[in-house]
Formats: sequence, C-alpha cells, structure tokens
Amino acid sequence: MQLLLEHEHSFINGKSYQTDDTFSVLNPANLGVVKEVSSVDELGCELALSGAQCALKQLRTVSASLRSEVLKKWHALILSHEEMLAELMVAEQGKPLHEALGEVRYAAGFVEWFAQEAIRSYGETIPSQNTSVQLSTIKQPVGVVLGITPWNFPLAMITRKVAPAYAAGCSFILKPSEETPLSAIALAKLAIQAGMEAGAFQVLITRQPAKLVEGYCQSAAVRKLTFTGSTKVGQLLLSHSATTIKRTSMELGGNAPFIVYGSANIPAAVAGLMAAKFRNAGQTCVAANRVLVEQECMAEFISCLTTAVATLKVGDGMVAGNDLGPLINESAKAKVQGLIASALKQGAKIHYQGAEEAGLFMAPVILTHVTPEMDIANTEIFGPIVSVMAFFDEVQSLVFANGVEEGLAAYFYSQDVSQIHRVSHALEYGMIGINEGMISNPVAPFGGIKQSGLGREGAKQGLDEYLEVKYLCQKFD
Ligand code: NAD
Repeated sequence: MQLLLEHEHSFINGKSYQTDDTFSVLNPANLGVVKEVSSVDELGCELALSGAQCALKQLRTVSASLRSEVLKKWHALILSHEEMLAELMVAEQGKPLHEALGEVRYAAGFVEWFAQEAIRSYGETIPSQNTSVQLSTIKQPVGVVLGITPWNFPLAMITRKVAPAYAAGCSFILKPSEETPLSAIALAKLAIQAGMEAGAFQVLITRQPAKLVEGYCQSAAVRKLTFTGSTKVGQLLLSHSATTIKRTSMELGGNAPFIVYGSANIPAAVAGLMAAKFRNAGQTCVAANRVLVEQECMAEFISCLTTAVATLKVGDGMVAGNDLGPLINESAKAKVQGLIASALKQGAKIHYQGAEEAGLFMAPVILTHVTPEMDIANTEIFGPIVSVMAFFDEVQSLVFANGVEEGLAAYFYSQDVSQIHRVSHALEYGMIGINEGMISNPVAPFGGIKQSGLGREGAKQGLDEYLEVKYLCQKFD
C-alpha cells in the first residue's frame, strides 16, 4: 500500500475519500506547501460513522489475542517506517529530526504496550452473601469512539488513544489537527496494513473542525469522545457531549511549575529544565512554564542556565545540529511575542535573548523578575521562553506552584528527602518529575487534574478509558 498520495484525503473504510474542497498543509520552516489535502464533506462523515459501527460489530468476533497480534504488527510497521514518518513529521510540524524520530518510537511504544494490555482486561468474581447467587463483572468495549488530537505530537497523541481503543475492541474515528493531518493518515494506512478492520481506524481531515465535531457529538451512536488539546476547546466539547452523555477523556493544557530548591544539584536542575522547556521549541503541554527558584540559589542557577541556553541552535528541523525548530504558525509566534511584551510592561526583565529569527523561528529568551500576577505566569507560553520567578521558602513555592487553574505536570529539584516527600504530596498536579525533566512514558499514567483534564492515557489505566464494567448477578436454582 502506498503510504502517501500526491494529494491526500480523508481515510474512510480503508480507502482515500476525496472531495473538491482542498487546503494546503504548510511546512512551518519555510511556509512551502507539503501537500494539498481535501476537507471531508457530510457524506464522508456519514460513511465513516456507518463504517465504524460495522467495524464495532466485526470486532465482537475478534478475540483479544488476535487484536493483540494486530497491534504487534502495527508496532513493527511503525518502526520499520520510522525514518519516513519522522521526516513527514518534520515537514508538517517543524520539530528537529532527532526529536521526530524520538516521537515515532514513543508513539510506537503505546502500540506495543497496549498489544500487551489487550489480553489483560480482566473481570472479577465478587464473593456473594448468598451461595445461590453468583456475582461477577466483565469488561466490554465502550463502542464507537471519536478522537480529536493536536498538532504538537502528530503521532504519539494518536497512538495513545487508538491503540487502547482497539485493544479494548472499540472502533475509532480520528479528527487530527488540520496543521498535521499527513502523519495521521500514514499511521492509519499502516494500521490497516497490519490487519485492522477497515472501519476500525478512520481519519477525517477537515478545515471546519467545529462543524464536524458538533455533528458527531449529537450522535448517540458515538459513545465516547477523547480529546487532546487546549482547555478552552475541551470545555466546549464537554458541553457538546452532555446532550448524549458520552464517556469523555480530556487531555488539556498545562502550566507546569519547575521548582528549584536551595539543596538542588544545580547543573542537574538546569539539564532537566533544558529538556522540560525546549523540546518542540517549548510547544508541549508538559513544558516548564514557570521556573520557580529559591532566592539563595538564584545567582548560580541563572548563570548555569544562561550558559546552557546560549548553546541552542535555531533552524530547520531537517538540518542536523539544530535544537529549536519553528513555531507552528504566525498566530503562535505573535502570541509568544505578545506575552514577552506584556511581561516586560508588568516589570519582568530580559536576562538573555538570542539573535532575532525570521519567519516562524524564535530565539530562546530568559525572563527574570517574573511574578505570579503577570499574564506570562497565567498563560501556557508554548514557545522557547524561560520565565523565572524567585521564592523565599517552601511554603511560598507551593502557594506559587498551586496558584493556577491547571494541574497537568510539575517538576522540582531538591536533595532533601523530607522535602521531596512533602512537596510531591502537596503539589496539585497529575504528574510530578522529581529531579527529572522528562516524565512521559507509555507504561505510566499520563493526565492532569483541575482544568488540565479528565482521565489518564498510557499505563494500565489507559485501557480502562475504553471499557465499560458490566455487573452480572446470576441466580442458581
Ligand atoms: P486546540 O485545542 O486548538 O486544537 C486541538 C484539536 O481540536 C485540533 O484537532 C483542532 O482542529 C480541534 N478543534 C479546535 N477547535 C475546535 C472546535 N471548536 N470544535 C472541535 N474541535 C476543535 O489545541 P492545539 O493548538 O492543536 O494544541 C495545543 C494544546 O493542546 C495546548 O493547550 C496543549 O497543552 C494541549 N495538549 C495537551 C496534551 C495533554 O496530554 N494534556 C498533549 C498535547 C497537547
């Protein structure tokens, strides 16, 4: 099967579905056209839904071990196409090639993990008070799933949903970001090649996401909505899902604190921050958004950080040696520039700034004297800006760290064992990196609390998101 056509289209029932309504997928590094794609119409959406319903029935006859085998083949196919998938990702998303390759392997890791979990969706036997009644539970697939994913991880955010859905026996309609639809199509073609039923994984490309998603939200045939994206869109989709009481999973925006305590190993903290801040040019939901540094180690930390940031190279992700690719589009760059301007107006200072970059590229910046009231401390930056705030003691660090609406990831560096225990329990976040800046892992539960979302992806919890528990009460004569 050819992985990508000259022009690309939605992938419905195992085939390309073309319309005349086309738009361009742009390379953010040079604004050249990567490919023309067509936007799905109403008929395409209807066909995809009936295909998904049909696949759901088919999947009832496919054992968990067979689904596991299909996932294993999909995993192998993703890895055997890793160079091509990584290059495609750089072209439509902009991240450096080595990061893209890392994401392909991370994405494949979810498929491998859920191939193993597919055969472990155990029910339970419940001890009954009455010997003539047997009580038990079984787990069954939720049904047809609609998934909506962002552009910042064009593969991993998809496999993190589709692999557990298939492992559970659900069929999946995916609406990827209009910025990065090509990676999604390539992934779906590989899944069909691996043996997935035609309607089990379909991809709908649209330039009108609100219309498409609202239509599906009104359909009772779609039993689950799983969304990764901004908190604002997540709130809207939760309200759309209310009319048909859909199961929902929400992986939303973050505003991660990165706390450096006085006892921290400073070079290790700086290395952790470089990973937590600059991956994908700062465009990750778990990016360190507010760097909180205890006053006593501020001077040493800033000096070490400045040396590290000054080594970063900005440029096309396809050129070896570049660390920071472009931001995704013009409005993303304008938003980051606006946050810097407003921080300066509110009293922050520029400690370091790389040479100005053209197009969608952006030089790294270190801002100091940031305070909790500033816009930059209350907004997901999504750019290569380190925003540094001082604190005087542990109590104040926790007030600052927890004083936002988001609760996705948090990081802290300390070598004081009692402090590590206290702080890891007190931080109001779903995931905590302790002396570690890279926490994402397919075998661990990924997700947030507060306005960062509902549910968990990856790990054993990720499979339960696609299963209903059914209680059986059987009476014997
Ligand atoms: P976004 O919310 O703008 O878009 C996400 C998806 O929703 C896209 O597919 C888009 O087409 C679709 N969409 C947009 N408006 C819609 C509407 N009105 N109705 C239906 N669908 C709509 O987010 P983005 O800019 O693509 O991604 C960045 C955001 O995603 C950041 O906030 C980031 O933190 C978040 N994110 C979260 C996680 C996580 O696991 N928590 C992971 C990656 C990204």
